[in-house]
Order: sequence, then structure tokens, then C-alpha cells
Amino acid sequence: MSAGTDAGVVIVGAGQAGGRVALQLAQRGHPGPVTLIGAESLPPYERPPLSKEMLADPSHPLPVLVPAEEYERLGIALRLGRRATAIDRNRQQVTLDDGSSLPYGRLVLATGGRPRQLPFSLERLQVLRTVDDVRAIAARAETATSVLVIGGGVIGLEVAATLRKRGLAVTVVEVGSRLLGRNFPEPVAAVIAERHAAEGVVLRTGVRIRSVHEDAGGLHATLSDGSTVTADFAVAGIGITPDTALAQECGLVTDDGVVVDADMRSSDPAILAVGDMAAIPGPDGRPMRCETWQNANVTAERAVATILGEAIPPGEASWFWTDQYDLNVQLTGDTMVGGPDRGLNGGRVVEQSATVAGGRLYLMLEGDRLVGAAAINAGRDMSVCRRLVASGAVLPAAMLEAGRFDARAARGLLTPSPASARQVDA
Ligand code: ADP
Repeated sequence: MSAGTDAGVVIVGAGQAGGRVALQLAQRGHPGPVTLIGAESLPPYERPPLSKEMLADPSHPLPVLVPAEEYERLGIALRLGRRATAIDRNRQQVTLDDGSSLPYGRLVLATGGRPRQLPFSLERLQVLRTVDDVRAIAARAETATSVLVIGGGVIGLEVAATLRKRGLAVTVVEVGSRLLGRNFPEPVAAVIAERHAAEGVVLRTGVRIRSVHEDAGGLHATLSDGSTVTADFAVAGIGITPDTALAQECGLVTDDGVVVDADMRSSDPAILAVGDMAAIPGPDGRPMRCETWQNANVTAERAVATILGEAIPPGEASWFWTDQYDLNVQLTGDTMVGGPDRGLNGGRVVEQSATVAGGRLYLMLEGDRLVGAAAINAGRDMSVCRRLVASGAVLPAAMLEAGRFDARAARGLLTPSPASARQVDA
């Protein structure tokens, strides 16, 4: 057992990552006390349904990890509606906003991020990060007929699709030259853009909001090209900033997020960080943050293994998804290969039809090695691609030249026959 566990584990931040750390520690028999501190009044929940099912229907059940009673049953002290205000690394204790202090043997930071703010504030402007945010947007949508969505990333576009389905007129303003420029390959973003346009969403890329004012009739924005947009309210989805204030104040090394090693240990080995705010070693070894559902789980699992003194579970290919209208889009691995700013030699994207009718696959290759993939309405093929990417598979020319993804041949690459395994050994 690692040193310090007797003093207990304190987890600051009761989102998906923090919640998973607490639950797994308790379920796997961690001997010391486990305390989970969360600023919201709700027990940990997952965020993916917020901009989709919950915004479509606020009576949708809360996507909690487990019901609140389960924490009690497992002996986890759940301190909701509380914020940690300071970390004393020498005394190994955390101060809370009610003035109390908690000692820790291990501290896990899971404070996530806050929505990036626009340089103006408006009564009619919402962001989407929490259940309360979703309820506020849904309440606006009850009486509104139009909405301005600021930011054409995943959050902005999921909000656009959900509110369009609710019958609102939707305009999306994206400062970049195209939608989803941060993490979607261009041809996939183009399919999503076409779908929004077909639904009647007005997409304005390459423009920013120059000025905006509001009155009883709504908000009125003037864009950088001089055009104007009027809407009943606006939703900004322009990314998040990691919440590293506590970590910085106590002198931990940060670089965008809290810098951790592959075991999730920060520059102070008694303090770990997980989820959106952890800057984990990327493929090139440099710290990078990853704001996905999968990353919350994977980093939580790793932190739990570190605390329990167990081996770190093997890595998986990164994976995330979005649902907009009838499009389910999933991405794995390095999805920006061959992009204009990447300068990768030999990076290319091969487009194929999926094994399921109507689905499309985009294979990202360096040479003939599959380094990433995107799937539109082709979840089954994506699960094969995730394993191919994780194994660093080289795809034979015949597979790449075919117009249709050969799932059978792909699975064959994952389970080498004993003969070929012997050849590799030889
Ligand atoms: P998320 O995953 O939360 O949607 P992303 O960073 O992927 O976050 O997407 C946010 C999008 O918002 C990006 O495409 C970015 O170019 C865009 N954006 C950032 N600032 C502005 C702004 N002031 N006006 C319009 N779009 C913006």
C-alpha cells in the first residue's frame, strides 16, 4: 500500500472524473476515508447528454453516475455545495469555504473547467456547462423564437441542432474559417455543416461579433463584416478554461492544465489531477489536456491505480463523439492528420463507405499506418478502428484502395494468426 493513504483521499471537484475516482476507490476497498467535495448541489453527473437529451427535454433524468445514496452506502463523504479555497501542501490539508479543513494523504484535483467568457456580458447570454445552465437555456427556449449561437465547436453545434429541432430559428457565428476547426477533419466538418444548412440553420464562419446590445426586443449583434443578427437570446460555446486556480496558488506546475505524469501525479507526488484540467503527457511527451468523456474515465482509473499502488491500465486510443440531428459522428486517435497546420509528411485521409448502409468512414494515415479515424453513422466500424489505431496497425493497400471499409479484413489485422506471430518473433 502506498504511503499516506491512512490520512485519506480528498477529491476536489465532483464532476465525472472526480466522481469516478471516489466510487472506484470505495468499490475497490481503499482502506482510508474518501471525501468528495463539489461546488454544485448535485452528485457527480456526465455532461454529454446535457446539450442533447436534457436540452431537448429538461425532464430527462439527470445523468448521474450513481444515485446520491450510493456514496453513503459506500462510505464516501460527499460534501456538496462546498468549494475548496486553499491547499496547504506542507500540512497536507485543504481548506473549504465554510472555514473547515480536511487533512489528506492523497489529494486529487478534478476541478474541470469554466466556460470561456466573451468580452461582453448580456442578460440574454447563456453558457452551457452545468445542469443549471441547461435548465436556463431550456427556459429561454420555451418562449423564444430565435437564438444566436456563438462558437461553432461541438457544444455550439449540439445546442444549435437541439434548439433547431425545438423549432427555433438558429444562427451560428464561428470566428474560424470553418466549423469544428479544433478537432474535426475538414471533410467531416463539411458533412455536419451541410446537415445544419439543410435544417435551415444559418452558419456564419470567419466572422466575429463586433458589437452587441440588447433591448426589450432581443439582442442585436453587428458582425465583423458589417452584417447584423437579431435573436431572442444567445448561447456562447467558445471552449473552456481549465480551473487551475487552487493548483497555481499552492505552486504546482501548470501548463494550460495541471501538469501530471502518466500516473496522474502532479509536481507534488501527494497531489494528483484528473479529467479536463489535467495536462497529461501527449503522444510527443508534451503536456496536453483532453476534454472528453473517455479521458475523464481513463485518467480517473489511472489515478485510482496510483493511489492503490497497482499497475496503470494499458492506454486506449482517444475517442469522442457528437450527435446532431440523425448524425452520430465518432472520432478516434489523431483526427487532424494532413491538416493545413500540421505539416506531417505523408499524412492523408482516405474516405470509404461504411459496412452499414449510408455510413461513412474517414481513415487518417501516416504512410499506411492508421493513426486516426472518423465515422459518420458507422459506430460498429469505429469500434474496430479504435482497436486498429491503438495497435498501430498498418493497412494493406487493397484495404485502402477499396471504396468500402473491409471490417472483416480489419478484424483480421487485430488477431494475428499463430503463424504470423511466429514470423514476427523470428
Ligand atoms: P467546445 O468543445 O466547448 O465546443 P471548441 O474549442 O471545440 O469548444 O469550440 C469552440 C469554438 O468557438 C471554436 O471553433 C472557436 O473557433 C470558436 N470561437 C472562439 N471564440 C469565439 C468568438 N469570440 N466568436 C465566435 N466563435 C468563437
